Amino acid sequence: MKILIIEDEYRLADLIRDFLEKESHQVEICTDGEDGYFLAASGIYDAVILDVMLPGMDGFSILKALRRENREVPVLFLTAKSDVDSKVLGLDLGADDYLTKPFEMKELAARLRLITRRRQKLLGSFEDFLSLGDLNLNKQEHTLSCKKSGKIMPLADKEYRLLEYLILNAGQVLSKEQISVRIWGYDSEVEYNSAEVYISFLRKKIAFLESQVKIVTIRGVGYQIKEQG
Ligand code: CA
Repeated sequence: MKILIIEDEYRLADLIRDFLEKESHQVEICTDGEDGYFLAASGIYDAVILDVMLPGMDGFSILKALRRENREVPVLFLTAKSDVDSKVLGLDLGADDYLTKPFEMKELAARLRLITRRRQKLLGSFEDFLSLGDLNLNKQEHTLSCKKSGKIMPLADKEYRLLEYLILNAGQVLSKEQISVRIWGYDSEVEYNSAEVYISFLRKKIAFLESQVKIVTIRGVGYQIKEQG
């Protein structure tokens, strides 16, 4: 999964990142509230860890704005205030869960697991496999297999990350821009049609596996992965 940490305490943010990277997640840190809001709204993250007190824009305002715009990314609130009011406020505004500082990293991982499962109704995120229809994406070996045909294909790194992103957002349309930023990052000089190229690689592999899953093009909007009935 790709996880965004919006937290202005560098040491804490680094600790969280190190821990989550050991669990094979891609993690980005943002220490400013306004930038954090912009990133969280981009649709490229699978979960957001959000501090309350931040420069620029506070955590409550960020969450409120995200939910007002129907951005459904799972949000785990970090609050230094142990008083009940701020916790309740966070949940009322649409946080999926909260943690009170200081906390154990294991507790953070458990909460993240819970909120991403709840939101995506997928058990895959922290398991060995991500599944959609007859497809199984092996997260350890980066292979893709089809339950029906029994065939299996290796995936290159970017193919794997693109397919993971599509499956985690199955049923939603992802724009070329979202895909580019998710896979290659904001600052990369990547060609605009790279997303297209990688989508076509994936389509060929999925077709080879004889899967019922298809990546469909929504003209002028982007791509969507779904099972074909
Ligand atoms: Ca803070």
